[in-house]
Amino acid sequence: MLFDERPKDRKEDLFDREREVEEIINNIKRPLLLISGVRRIGKTSVLLVSLNEAKENYILIDCRKLKENYGRKELYSLFSEALSSKISYLKDVLEKVKGISIAGNYVEIKWGGKNYISLSSLFDELNKKRLIIAIDEAQRLRGPLSKEIKDAIAHAYDYDRNLTFILTGSEVGLLHELIDVENENSPVYGRYYLEITLDRFNKERSREFLQRGFQEISIKVEDKIIEEIVNYFDGIPGWLTFAGNEYATKGKIEEVKKTAVKVAKGELENLIEEKTKKVSYITGKRYRNALKCIAKGENSWSKLLSCMEKEEGSTISTSVLDNIIQNLEKMSIIKDYEFLDPVYKEASKLL
Ligand code: ADP
Ligand code: MG
Repeated sequence: MLFDERPKDRKEDLFDREREVEEIINNIKRPLLLISGVRRIGKTSVLLVSLNEAKENYILIDCRKLKENYGRKELYSLFSEALSSKISYLKDVLEKVKGISIAGNYVEIKWGGKNYISLSSLFDELNKKRLIIAIDEAQRLRGPLSKEIKDAIAHAYDYDRNLTFILTGSEVGLLHELIDVENENSPVYGRYYLEITLDRFNKERSREFLQRGFQEISIKVEDKIIEEIVNYFDGIPGWLTFAGNEYATKGKIEEVKKTAVKVAKGELENLIEEKTKKVSYITGKRYRNALKCIAKGENSWSKLLSCMEKEEGSTISTSVLDNIIQNLEKMSIIKDYEFLDPVYKEASKLL
């Protein structure tokens, strides 16, 4: 079902993306692959379908569960969960490892004290069998442990021939910063990776997606409505799915848009709150103002500066503004003073 809101994991349910899935399968033996693209573009779906089509054993680490400034305990518990889900395949390897204990179907990894196992050693152990380690929303690994994670991935890249890492990321600049192969000081320096970038659907594909989705749930929808959804949601499959579902239950296009904007606004509020908590109240407020000003169409450095200064009622230094712009770009929220997601733009007007 196209309008199922969970990430797709079966080829039959994935619309388009044949080329991307094929490229991943053809390169599945490489040490490191990246799948990048904005939120809701279909990264997790393409990842899962490719893994299932490749008929490979994999574990999936879902980094959305990590808070900023997460610790080793939280990271290892993600690995525990992922390894537990593949226990029948990995049991013979894992039961011999010091620092790992298996209770029923649950794999426990020691994250501190005596017998603690490092990530690199864990990868070396896992390398005894062919395994794909998929890390979803990997940019969230940034933080105090990122050096160690990079070291471990670099080590596995060089020595663990049975392992493949596939990383996805919605915040593309931050993902690249994590896998910083061009930086001489980075542990992964100089290593090659294949990057698959997911683009939005064009109008024709978006239309087809919606038509097929509505057909599957036996709902007749006028062309005019389809057109309106296509134009508003700009080819982002996750929004098309959302809109299809909402329209099927509510039957009013204006309601559908409103609900989508509310969802997006919640996500932006979270971002602002993270900045407030991690940096300062004033930083959070400045991100809010920057988003509001860009949504109003302040599409140059100087226009944005003057709009933000007006909002705040004080002057703002160049470096502060540069920093905010760079970060919003790295988070794939804006590019060249424009929003990458039209729903985020509408939501920002309401901040
Ligand atoms: P991402 O991981 O990039 O945020 P997801 O894979 O979670 O995106 O997809 C977001 C939503 O859109 C999900 O509901 C998913 O089912 C749907 N979706 C994305 N791409 C496709 C596609 N090619 N065909 C069908 N549904 C898709
Ligand atoms: Mg995802």
